[in-house]
Amino acid sequence: MQNESPTNNKICKVCLTSNMLCSACNSRLESGQISDLDVKLSRAVFAIRPDAEFSKYIVSDNFIIIIADKDNARKIIGKAGRNVQTISKQLNKKLKVVEISGHNVMLEELLSVPIIAINKVYQQQPDASGAGEFYRVRIDKKFSRKVRFSTSIASAVLNKKIEYVFE
Ligand SMILES: [Zn+2]
Repeated sequence: MQNESPTNNKICKVCLTSNMLCSACNSRLESGQISDLDVKLSRAVFAIRPDAEFSKYIVSDNFIIIIADKDNARKIIGKAGRNVQTISKQLNKKLKVVEISGHNVMLEELLSVPIIAINKVYQQQPDASGAGEFYRVRIDKKFSRKVRFSTSIASAVLNKKIEYVFE
């Protein structure tokens, strides 16, 4: 997926604080190296906390899921969630911040349901995604309607192929 450098450093400092893009950043936008949303989200986060960084984000319908380490997640969320609300309003999307942690913890936070266990499953025949290993995420079936995000979103968040099993 994205590289390891903070996602919100994809445009330069000057462009973070201005409404226009410099020619270097603009050419990266035009060539598709960065997206319009990269620019908008970077600016929105910078406006609120110039010192905050996040490692990546995933878009799902009207949701943006931001992945950040503990310290940065705290900054982006803000006191009583105020920062997240502001960014959310600016971008007109719902926002969820998931702190980088153990995969169990991250999934529970993302899906907003308790997880019984994650089983690592090894495939004999790796499929097109190339992954020989995937996660079988076991969830109590009484929560089956409450799981907030699809397996493809969960997979993107953890960089891991995922299936849900309700039992
Ligand atoms: Zn620039």
